Amino acid sequence: MGIPFIDLKSQEVQLRSRIDQAIGKVIDHGAFIMGPEVFELEEKLADYTGCRNVVTCSSGTDALTMSLMAIGVSAGDVVFVPSFTFVATAEAVISVGAEVCFVDVDSDTYNMCPESLERAVHQTVMAGKKAAAVIPVDLYGLPANYNSINTIATKARMAVIADGAQSFGGSVDGRKVGNLAGVTTTSFFPAKPLGCFGDGGAVFTDCEDTAALLRSIRVHGQGASKYDNVRFGMTARLDTIQAAILLVKLEVFAEELEMRQTVANRYQAAFAGAAGLQLVEQKATSAWAQFTISSDRRDRIYASLRESEIPSVIYYPKAVHQQDAYRTFTCVSSGLPVTENLVKSVLSLPMSPYLTCHDQDRVIEVVLRAA
Ligand SMILES: *Cc1c(COP(=O)(O)O)cnc(C)c1O
Repeated sequence: MGIPFIDLKSQEVQLRSRIDQAIGKVIDHGAFIMGPEVFELEEKLADYTGCRNVVTCSSGTDALTMSLMAIGVSAGDVVFVPSFTFVATAEAVISVGAEVCFVDVDSDTYNMCPESLERAVHQTVMAGKKAAAVIPVDLYGLPANYNSINTIATKARMAVIADGAQSFGGSVDGRKVGNLAGVTTTSFFPAKPLGCFGDGGAVFTDCEDTAALLRSIRVHGQGASKYDNVRFGMTARLDTIQAAILLVKLEVFAEELEMRQTVANRYQAAFAGAAGLQLVEQKATSAWAQFTISSDRRDRIYASLRESEIPSVIYYPKAVHQQDAYRTFTCVSSGLPVTENLVKSVLSLPMSPYLTCHDQDRVIEVVLRAA
């Protein structure tokens, strides 16, 4: 049998009867929209992260859009995002009518570079525009440099929205993702560390006012009652069935995180010191959505893995500022050299809690031979 890139099957087999039961319960009670499981999940996610308010929603992208709306980011505002990310980070900014300014990433963590951000903020202010928010991304599951970014943001009086779509479960000095910025978003897309059986997401914040706004925006800008609309909103609820599935998966999540760490440790040990291979520097505790290497011989490694029928994926073959729809947007004046180099050198290897040592050894052998 082939090695899966992300092994969702092993988890499903293990949890299937409990998930079937949980789905059956929702069908029985019939509260498909905002049923009791949604609120139970929000409580459990708050317990898990230690964050005061959790607002579940329809996707990681909608979580970003809702957060921008709740913070009041709108036309004319500038929002700073790394270009080395999934397109949704920038897309959410466009969808609220604001302007994107692309920032470069650090060459060791591949996450937003604070110096590049500082320069971009300065450039924006000099151009007479409003620096409204920054969205650092926790790429591959590794929390971004929030210490520096929060400081820069406070000085510039702008909001920080952490795009934790890949990093749910990650932490910095014991502080879990969800508490590292004023607002944090995540995604429950099936392939993310905590995934449901469809689309889903959540927003985390300690701010009661922001949480109240998010809850209103999630349902068409609802006011005191269902047909009282006090602001513009969205249809951005998490389905009760998805919440029920996530409740089951959350029970094994902590254990799965440890299993991911074990897999990551084995990769790191095998690749340590290998000529021509670079690993992402782990300056925080990653949720290990991906295990990513970078190499000048990336294409050769990719081809060798393919020949051995081992899947690998390039996240991302194009930076967002290189995408047709985003070419005309502003970039930091110093350019994006690190990002433009990374798109040519990164490669993500099979990663999941259930990756066996045997399969992992095959991956390692092929990578080392081709590197
Ligand atoms: C997956 C992802 C998103 C979007 O999440 P969806 O649930 O698919 O909308 C946003 N940002 C990043 C960095 C992601 O990886």
